[in-house]
Amino acid sequence: MRITVLAGGVGGARFLRGVRAAAGPDDAITAIVNTGDDLTLAGLRVCPDLDSILYALAGVNDVERGWGRRDESERASEEMAAWGVGWPWFTLGDRDLGTCITRSHWLAEGVGLAEVVRRLASRWELGVELLPMSEQSVETHVHTAEHGRMHFQEWWVRHRASVPAERFELAGIETATPAPGVLAAIAEADIVLLAPSNPVVSIGPILAVPGIGEALRATAAPVVGLSPIIGGRVVRGMADACLSAIGVATSAEAVARHYGAELLDGWLVDPADAGAAAEGVRVLARPLLFTSVDETAAIARDAIALGLGRG
Ligand code: GDP
Ligand code: CA
Repeated sequence: MRITVLAGGVGGARFLRGVRAAAGPDDAITAIVNTGDDLTLAGLRVCPDLDSILYALAGVNDVERGWGRRDESERASEEMAAWGVGWPWFTLGDRDLGTCITRSHWLAEGVGLAEVVRRLASRWELGVELLPMSEQSVETHVHTAEHGRMHFQEWWVRHRASVPAERFELAGIETATPAPGVLAAIAEADIVLLAPSNPVVSIGPILAVPGIGEALRATAAPVVGLSPIIGGRVVRGMADACLSAIGVATSAEAVARHYGAELLDGWLVDPADAGAAAEGVRVLARPLLFTSVDETAAIARDAIALGLGRG
């Protein structure tokens, strides 16, 4: 079976570890990963969601902190801060900087981002093919009344999403094209899964790349999403601040309606949201907390079964 997953960073990574555990030896998993929160910092190209997934699948991520590499030090960032270079509130560990330097070097040599990701991933047996949504730069900016326009990371990390957002802008989206392999991964999939990643700033940018939404609506594969909202609350993080900015309620039902029946064939919700309904979408309620890799694998199997009509 060919399983294609749309994913953001940490939530997407947790889900992908379960999908990988659920898959059999003949299954092939491809992840189409958000690059909308990428940025250039101190001359380096930083891809937070791609790296979160890379590190988590490789088993080298910092589980406690929730981001970056484990066994990490921050000496390079301390030096940069002393010179006033970079963002003091956006610390990159030394190992993490090693990834960013390597990526920036290859990009400067003219290597496309998809090939850069392939080279970075080839260091480990990930069991998942990682594809950036696009090779062109698409940067999420947040418009606020209080502080004007800022990069998504400044709003998310520096302000902890506490400054009310008026709207999100995807700079560069009009001219972005799907990265090599993305459209084929959707067209040739047996099942497409939407990770319970942030619907606005993780899944949203992927769907907004010209051609990707159309491919998802055209594919013969069923498309099944998982709710990031459990019992009317985001499980981890601050996705509610993003949803309210685009006028979507923090509920499993509202997120399903936001994605819409044109996109979704199935929608997995937690029993706490069992009443959630969206016309034209098959809804299945089952516990959706990723408490362990085994449990996440069981969730992934149920999502696949729902899509293939066996749920
Ligand atoms: P980011 O890019 O690192 O912010 O991560 P993602 O966008 O991929 O994922 C963040 C989302 O994952 C949040 O909105 C959470 O609601 C959701 N999430 C995190 N853990 C779980 C879980 O155990 N179950 C479900 N259903 N959703 C989760
Ligand atoms: Ca992200």
